[in-house]
Order: sequence, then C-alpha cells, then structure tokens
Amino acid sequence: MNILVLNCGSSSLKYQLINMENEEVLAKGLCERIGIDGSRIKHTPNGKETIIIEGDMPDHKNAVQYVIEALSSEEHGVIKTMDEINAVGHRVVHGGEEFACSTIITDEVIEAVVKCTDLAPLHNPANLIGIDACKQIMPNVPMVGVFDTAFHQTMPEKTYLYALPYDYYRKYKLRRYGFHGTSHKYVSHRAAEFLGKDIKDLKIVVCHLGNGASVCAVDGGKSIDTSMGLTPLEGLAMGTRCGDMDPAIIQFLADKEGLSIDEINTILNKKSGVLGISELSSDFRDLEDAIEEGNKKAELTMNVFCYRVAKYVGAYAAAMNGIDAVVFTAGLGENNGDVRSEVCSYLTFLGVDVDEEANKCRGIERDFSKEGARVRSVVIPTDEEMMIARETARLI
Ligand code: AMP
Repeated sequence: MNILVLNCGSSSLKYQLINMENEEVLAKGLCERIGIDGSRIKHTPNGKETIIIEGDMPDHKNAVQYVIEALSSEEHGVIKTMDEINAVGHRVVHGGEEFACSTIITDEVIEAVVKCTDLAPLHNPANLIGIDACKQIMPNVPMVGVFDTAFHQTMPEKTYLYALPYDYYRKYKLRRYGFHGTSHKYVSHRAAEFLGKDIKDLKIVVCHLGNGASVCAVDGGKSIDTSMGLTPLEGLAMGTRCGDMDPAIIQFLADKEGLSIDEINTILNKKSGVLGISELSSDFRDLEDAIEEGNKKAELTMNVFCYRVAKYVGAYAAAMNGIDAVVFTAGLGENNGDVRSEVCSYLTFLGVDVDEEANKCRGIERDFSKEGARVRSVVIPTDEEMMIARETARLI
C-alpha cells in the first residue's frame, strides 16, 4: 500500500510517498513558490539525486498535479500511474476541540476544519486547499486528516484553561491547544521503544526544538501539558517567535512606538525570539559560528533559549511528579549537542546526568546519559510524515 503524505503551506507543499509494506520512503519533495513567479519542485526519488523541475504552479491544484507527474514520470518516477497511490494523508494544523484523533476526510470533516480556521488563520486555509486539490484530482482515493493539535486533546481542563473570563472559553473555545502533536506522539512512543519500556509506565518530557519549538509532558503515553497555546506563539523562545511574555507589553509597545495590533503581531511572530535578541539570525547554525568568533550577544541568545527549555522541563517534572526521560528532537534537538548539554546542565537535580562524549551525535537515536543516571536523556529524530502515513494506513 502506497500512501502520499502532504503538508501544505500557503505557498509551499511538502510531500512523501511511502510504501507501507516496509515503510520505505519511495520519494519526497517540496513545491515552492506556489502562486508566485518562479515556482518549482525539488524532487528526490529514494537513493537518487534531487532534481529541480521548473513549472508554472498558479495554485495548489497545479502543484498536486506536478507532484503526481514527478512521482509517475518515466525518468525520475517511482510509480507507473496515479492508481498506485492508495490513500493521501494530510497534515492539518488545527483541529480545535473537534478532533482528538486522526480521521477519514469527509465533507462533514472539511466543514469542521473550516470552522477551526479562526483558530489558525495562517495554517488551516492552506491545509484545506491541499485537501480540495486532491479531492478534485483523485476523487476516489481516500484521504485522512492528521491534526497537530489532536495528541494534546488529552490535556485536563486545569492545563488548557487560560485565567481569563470563562465566557471567552464558552463563546470562542479560547484555550490552550498545543501543536507539534504528531511529533510529540511519535517521539515519545519511539523513545519508550528505544528504552525498552512500556510507555504506560513512563513520564517523558519531549523537547521539540526546531525553528518552531515546544515542550510536551507525556504521562503514560498521553499529553498532559504543552508549551504552545491557542496559537504556536506561546511558550519557548523560537527562531522568530517571542514565546512567553507579559501581555502588558502589547499595550506598552502600541503607546511607545505607535504600532497597530497587526504590526505588533508581526513583530512577535516574525522579528522576535532568537532573531530578535541576537540581531543576527533565526538560525542556530549562524549563532554557533558567531559564538565561536566570540560574539557575546549570540551566546546570550543561546543562554535565553536553553534556560527557557530547562524551565519548562522543570515545570513538567512538577506537573507529573517526576520524570523518567527527557527527549530531544527536531532540527536543533537532533543536531545541536551544545543546546542539549546546556539544557541538561539545569536538570541534574532531577537525576539527569549527561555523558558528554555520547552527546556528540547528530540526527541519530541515542541515550546520551551516563550509566546509572536516574533520568535518561535521549535523542530521537522526529518523523512526522511516517506518523501521518501510519495513521492513514490504520484508518483506511
Ligand atoms: P527545524 O525547524 O526542525 O528544521 O529546525 C531548524 C533549526 O535547527 C535551525 O535553528 C537550525 O540551525 C537547526 N538545525 C537544523 N539542521 C541542523 C544541522 N544539521 N546542524 C545543526 N543545526 C541544525
């Protein structure tokens, strides 16, 4: 059974075609600049060089058509015809309170996702366009929606409610939802397997540290708290997002700088975080180079970032009354040993004890704790696409 996994952004579309018999990724790629001049696909068939196909993609329907052509082309294809795609799994960012698990996409489901658009105005419309494009091009192929928020629907009321007038929850469902759920679920389950334990017996904190970053408390396999909130702006300092801050700052900036709410929103989402403090870059690789050259601001930025991650791990250790493992994933979590080491340096009181030699690793599964450490510190590379493909296969 071949599953096509799609992750649609406003002007991009990431895809993977996965053979579920052996979970082999047959091909993957990215359509860029959809609806903008210069659109193209980067297509990588398994084991072969990436090729770039220039093409006119005025909308996502054209992009899906290009993807299918690339996948089935004689030259660099991996299937003969579209008929070899048995199902499509869509990443959907916000499922609100409607979706606590993945679901087969029907007209009713599409309607419910449309209703969640208020909660994710930047993301859900693009996901819906991708669903609509597939519906038109492959009307008989079943589709499954896998929601970033679903894994966190197990959070109890006391963690998801904001301390605002209750009526806003009643009227608008204004609450913490959390994101990166597909990654947190995959990584926590994989970590339990890797440690040879039953996930039901484990208290795990997953640190998904990428350009977007969030921490999740997973107790017995269930998310009981997470750092992102109504939107992905809350929580850690991220590449360009501010994370937690005093909400009074919004009024302060409006008064002092004469900014509108929209302008402040852009600053908090696009110009803050690692980029905002370092005044250099949102990418930690640039920060690492600058730190080596003695740039103190880059070092401070890294300190702020790591301190906040550690603070959340400490908070979640309290939430679960202890932890068994702290697990790192995503671009930074998988590749930056310095970040892992600095975060863990705050957590020795919990029983975290890092083997610095073992921590010198990138992009592989590894327990980098010292022998006998009470709390295991582990790297598990995330694989959201595989998780979406598995959910899709399970449901169809
Ligand atoms: P993500 O959003 O998961 O792609 O993660 C992006 C962040 O991870 C950026 O800050 C990158 O600097 C960092 N990152 C991604 N890949 C690597 C790598 N191979 N080595 C070091 N840092 C990386």
